[in-house]
Amino acid sequence: MNNRKIVVFTDLDGTLLDHVTYSFCEAEDALELLREKEVPLILCSSKSSDEIKVYRRKLSNNEPFISENGGAIFIPEGYGNLKCEFNKIDDGYLVIEIGSEYKTLANAFEKIKRRTGINIKSIIELTIDEIVELTGLSREEASLSQKREYTLPFIIDSGEEDIKNIKDEILSSGLNYTEGTRFVHLMGGNDKGKAVNILIDIFKKNFPETSITTVGLGDSLNDLPMLEVVDKAFLVKKEAGDYEERIKVEGLVYADGIGPAGWNKAVLGLFNNN
Ligand SMILES: [Mg+2]
Repeated sequence: MNNRKIVVFTDLDGTLLDHVTYSFCEAEDALELLREKEVPLILCSSKSSDEIKVYRRKLSNNEPFISENGGAIFIPEGYGNLKCEFNKIDDGYLVIEIGSEYKTLANAFEKIKRRTGINIKSIIELTIDEIVELTGLSREEASLSQKREYTLPFIIDSGEEDIKNIKDEILSSGLNYTEGTRFVHLMGGNDKGKAVNILIDIFKKNFPETSITTVGLGDSLNDLPMLEVVDKAFLVKKEAGDYEERIKVEGLVYADGIGPAGWNKAVLGLFNNN
């Protein structure tokens, strides 16, 4: 790393990827600029690690990434000769585990369902056809989306009051939840902000001579913790053309565009101003 370095953390669904088509073509100019300037682009998504690996390949991205709403950090072995503590090596990545074990979440989910009697369905219980119908993902990606390790996404087919009851029940069972663009996510103590902070710390410890400016881009409530910990936070418009109003962060910049179009303008603007 040089003496000054920008590191960009981005959400995928509805932010870098179009909410409906999952395309990032509207962000190509900014992506190219990041490649030119050798700015690390860290994908930080609620998606499973296997799903994110698909997008790393599509984006020719070789950087670390954060899966399942901060459930785990994956650092490619040998990346920048980084030294850090990690929990395991998996598929060529050093894995730092932050989230709860999947089995704990699955057991808690069943208990919550039984206790409340409310119709909730986890992503594991949905058929591939149902996931495709609900998300517009390809069948292959729908199948990868079920490979959960640290969080359990689910849907509530019910009214406001039931949604509140489920959320109360989750909190009283000592777990947590957040909301992405389509699913509610049952999880432990992880969030995107904690994971981003851990990775920033690793960068800072390994490159003490480098002044690192962090940038974050998101669209939904699950991005709030990430936007709170970065130096420059951007919120893109949601598919309906409005901003997530529950995201309030000091200095937040409202990107002028929906998803990847807003992402493109925000990232290009970052360098015009420098
Ligand atoms: Mg999103």
